[in-house]
Amino acid sequence: MNPTTAFFFDEMTLWHSAGAHALTLPVGGWVQPPAGAGHAESPETKRRFKSLLDVSGLSRQLQLHSAGPASEEDLLRVHGRAYLQRFKALSDAGGGELGPQAPIGPGSFEIARLSAGLAIAAVNQVLSDQAHNAYSLSRPPGHHCLADGAMGFCFLANIAIAIEAAKARSGLGKIAVIDWDVHHGNGTQSIFEARGDVLTISLHQDGCYPPGYSGAQERGVGAGLGANINIPLLPGSGHAAYLHAVARIVVPALERFQPELIIVACGYDANAVDPLARMLLHSDSFRLMTRALRQAAERLCQGRLVLVHEGGYSEAYVPFCGLATVEELSGVRTAVVDPMLEFVQLQQPTAALLAFQKQWVEQLAQQVID
Ligand code: ZN
Repeated sequence: MNPTTAFFFDEMTLWHSAGAHALTLPVGGWVQPPAGAGHAESPETKRRFKSLLDVSGLSRQLQLHSAGPASEEDLLRVHGRAYLQRFKALSDAGGGELGPQAPIGPGSFEIARLSAGLAIAAVNQVLSDQAHNAYSLSRPPGHHCLADGAMGFCFLANIAIAIEAAKARSGLGKIAVIDWDVHHGNGTQSIFEARGDVLTISLHQDGCYPPGYSGAQERGVGAGLGANINIPLLPGSGHAAYLHAVARIVVPALERFQPELIIVACGYDANAVDPLARMLLHSDSFRLMTRALRQAAERLCQGRLVLVHEGGYSEAYVPFCGLATVEELSGVRTAVVDPMLEFVQLQQPTAALLAFQKQWVEQLAQQVID
């Protein structure tokens, strides 16, 4: 087995454009055109993450790869043909609104195929033992995308496409998807909720996105009953609440399920300064969540762990959270110090609020684990 971490990236994925927006608001009416990055799902967040990997020297200790686009066959295992045709036609016509909060620009169809292709290749690299674990800097993201519809900045279900490609190619059995993006992994859940071979777990801010969604009672349907777990956390949850949920629910669920591969829908928008959510994580939170899953993967599936990039909208802070994550995956610690760590550590919930949050996690753990 190759001991290194593989990192999949392609500059072209940063050329996907959502058109003129201020954060998530289409420009027009009372919404002034912005001078800066514009849409929240900005390429700058990802470019700065990759740049920090480069200037810190960490990139030189990773296997760096690009990949080809997902094939039509790959896409059709998850998405309907009519949806794909509609997506391509709008992309060819210069872009527009493909779904709710899902604006695209010219060429977004091909770029989304490339984003999914990076995730497919990252999974393949690990399953073929060419890397110990892997990270795919996929953009646009995928976890809100439904089989037949785009939403929430997501146009193709990158992780689902990668899972089905791996199953078709290698006969892979059970796979677990842990989604710590601050928004609910509704697309992944909807695609696999009737399946017992894919465990989906989403930690998310209660009621944030899809708007109003909580999901604590949804445990899968039919053959998939028990293979879907939602961990909605109240706004203001921080480092300790997340780590408690990982230790009390995520890791025990993995041990019970015995996956052959663990995939993380790795969004960084639960960090404390994200504009699209209200959680209080910092770089060490992502480092320790990655450690917990890396150790679970070592125990359960020969270390087979793949992280696929999802959300995260703070241009300034996502790079430090991402660097900590890739440091932990690779076992390489750079000289970079997170300049915001101490500030965020001082913003954590009070003891009383934390006790309430942990109590909620315990209550949920008793329902889904004990
Ligand atoms: Zn998100």
